[in-house]
Amino acid sequence: MSAPAQHPILDPAAAPPFPAAALPVLRNAQLRKNVAHATDVIQGKRNRLVAEKTDWTELRESASAIRAHTLEHLGEYLAEFEERCTLAGGVVHWAADAGEAREIILRILQEEKADEVIKIKTMTSAEIQLNPFLRQNGVRAYETDLAEIILQLGEDEPSHVVVPALHVNRAQVREIFARTMNLPELSDDPQALTAAARTYLRKMFLTVPTAISGANYLIAETGGVAIVESEGNGRMCLTLPRTMITLAGIEKVIPRFRDLEVMLQVLARSATGERMNPYTSLWTGVTPGDGPQHFHVVLLDNGRSAMLRREMERQTLKCIRCGACMNTCPVYRQTGGHAYGSVYPGPIGAILTPQLQKLEHAQTLPYASSLCGACYDVCPVKINIPEVLIDLRAQVTEKERAEDRRFFDPIYVGMRVANWVFASAGRFRLAQRAARLGLRLFTRKDGWIHALPGVGGRWTMTRDLRGLPQQTFREWWAKERGR
Ligand code: SF4
Repeated sequence: MSAPAQHPILDPAAAPPFPAAALPVLRNAQLRKNVAHATDVIQGKRNRLVAEKTDWTELRESASAIRAHTLEHLGEYLAEFEERCTLAGGVVHWAADAGEAREIILRILQEEKADEVIKIKTMTSAEIQLNPFLRQNGVRAYETDLAEIILQLGEDEPSHVVVPALHVNRAQVREIFARTMNLPELSDDPQALTAAARTYLRKMFLTVPTAISGANYLIAETGGVAIVESEGNGRMCLTLPRTMITLAGIEKVIPRFRDLEVMLQVLARSATGERMNPYTSLWTGVTPGDGPQHFHVVLLDNGRSAMLRREMERQTLKCIRCGACMNTCPVYRQTGGHAYGSVYPGPIGAILTPQLQKLEHAQTLPYASSLCGACYDVCPVKINIPEVLIDLRAQVTEKERAEDRRFFDPIYVGMRVANWVFASAGRFRLAQRAARLGLRLFTRKDGWIHALPGVGGRWTMTRDLRGLPQQTFREWWAKERGR
């Protein structure tokens, strides 16, 4: 069965290159204000709570070590998880790619004769484009996380891994709810908005007998699943339905139950700036008379095994989707998430998406970074994102060179010319003089260049360039010595 049509802003195969996708956002003052405000608030809370933890460095080291160890022994831990989960009454399915995962989930739903399903927020389901696929096949999926409801009703897509509707403000939420829930008198008071969402959700919780969740962690030792959330919608989905389907990437496993002690501490602080998530739910298999009586886990590969084979890139899979790297990234904070053309935006998206796409798409994403290193500083599992970005850039360049795609690219030609010029002091001096003369034409009285023609215009399109000084340091020095 063919892949469903995905919202173009979240389909890396159809999304425009990052610079083109970022441009309209950069011109959208309201969206940038929403993103800046939300990331400031979350980042401030995160920084305060990290600062109060005197053993934060050790916690971070432990979290990083747990994730690295797990990835080194991933096969063993997945096998252990499958065995324990099956013993506890769960059914484990393996999906090599998005298509297989979608088919498995649809088959389970058809066996259950389900034409509706309630969902706990899961980025992995967005990765495999599950909702549009289910819709095509006659199953309606209802999101139950407040932010996901806003996006679903507003026909929008997530722009952040923890706060998916971060780009939407209160007035916009009111407009969406008033229109789609037929509540013209609704105010934009947060309590009124959440009450409206509560009423909307309650009916679904009580009537839809099948649920889909993601997983924050799969625990190999017990065969259990852990999710954290803030609204209690996850808890409702875990207790009321008859059938629960958990979709999780294979990297979500952790070895032991006690590892949660570390992982939950770093996740809550990094993700939402809380000491503990309001709801932490753990479930293992099925218990007669209590909670869902049919439990399935779909383990998704979808390019992850290939990532494991590359030592440098493997660390990408340590990610626990806390979103801290997004909140601190100077690029994400300007462009928001949609410009990344993937459900995984920000610095982690810039390294994860191209790898999941096997560098077939999203090749501009590794360049969506200033390499300032802020993402590495905040990452609770110490993923060296700048290091991976540079490695991916090298791979993209190699690929383009092998395909001769860059031969006539003006930037590539410019870099080759620069290489030739910089290789000789005489050529460099001549180039400096020529540039000084040429740029004088475009330098304004304030000493800045605001617009350049041709390929140089790509730079001045979004920023100004300082005009060249009339004298280089070497010229000044030679003159001084000659006095
Ligand atoms: S890369 Fe690190 S900071 Fe970014 S989402 Fe993943 S765990 Fe969080």
